[in-house]
Amino acid sequence: MNIQDIVNTILETSDSGRVIRVLDKAAPIALSFIGLGNQATTWPPKIEALGVMVTNKCGAKCEHCFNNSSPDGTNVLGVGDIEILVKHLLNNDNPLKVVGLSGGEPFLYEQLPLLVKTLKKYGVLVTITSGGTAITESKLKAVAQQGLDGLVISFDHFHTPFVNRRRLINLFETAVSLNIRTKVSYGIGPGVESDLRKLNSELPSEVELEIHPIDKIGRGVDLQDYQLDESHSIGKECSNCSSEFSSMALNCDGAIYPCCSIGGFTEGLKLSHIDEIKNGASIVDSYKNKGHLENLHGTGVNFLVGSVEPYRKCDVCYRAMNSEKLQ
Ligand code: SF4
Ligand code: SF4
Repeated sequence: MNIQDIVNTILETSDSGRVIRVLDKAAPIALSFIGLGNQATTWPPKIEALGVMVTNKCGAKCEHCFNNSSPDGTNVLGVGDIEILVKHLLNNDNPLKVVGLSGGEPFLYEQLPLLVKTLKKYGVLVTITSGGTAITESKLKAVAQQGLDGLVISFDHFHTPFVNRRRLINLFETAVSLNIRTKVSYGIGPGVESDLRKLNSELPSEVELEIHPIDKIGRGVDLQDYQLDESHSIGKECSNCSSEFSSMALNCDGAIYPCCSIGGFTEGLKLSHIDEIKNGASIVDSYKNKGHLENLHGTGVNFLVGSVEPYRKCDVCYRAMNSEKLQ
């Protein structure tokens, strides 16, 4: 049974009314809050969503973590640096609509309420994606008070060893009571069918569920294949990266990458650095100086390696573009 069939069965046998989506890749989650990310962009691209990895410190050390976060992470971005990039994008005709904060664990970032408040001044939607290890009711209320628009909690086979399940379910209920639009990001792993049924019975019905394959990137590079769902590849071709390039990612070390965070933090994809922007450099010029990014934008990874299955394109890109992985 493929994942869509499992979801259909769950929906038929439950009256939760929950919104459940099956994605063909771990799409930039911030984009899904506003339904962007499917339109092709021009070159150089116009940026509609900025993903910000505020820290690589995390209470968990998931085996699949694409950005290698862990309790040992020490990188932390300054609120002022994030604000400078937001202003740069808005001052250069980018229709920025959403900023997605992630990590590591964003709820370990002490200035999270101040950051949400600062970003809301610019009229953008602000979302937080968390692994759940450091959320508390008081932290949730603090960011809600500053106008947080969306909360995503990764809650699946890979994350549950690091969290108290009952405590996290209670926090979902708190988020719903605070009127925060809340989603679970669920990466497909072993035991997916029984796990999804359990989650569906536990979560408040207002919590949306987004199910996606796991990319073999970062610490997950050696994972075995969990994407056993043939529906992911039927009738689809590996697309170019034009729509993904409507996003941009700011890493916790100040490096700037295209295509939000999925497959980013890959040496060969590096676009610029926050220090360059502070010194007067232009993001538009950075795009123009990177011919291989223009090729990815226009043709996708096929220009590097030939035919690729659609949900594998970022895996392939990671190996092709990461200098440490080049053979
Ligand atoms: S919770 Fe997220 S950021 Fe933290 S180790 Fe797991 S996948 Fe990485
Ligand atoms: S294939 Fe590479 S450039 Fe394209 S979206 Fe994935 S990581 Fe980004």
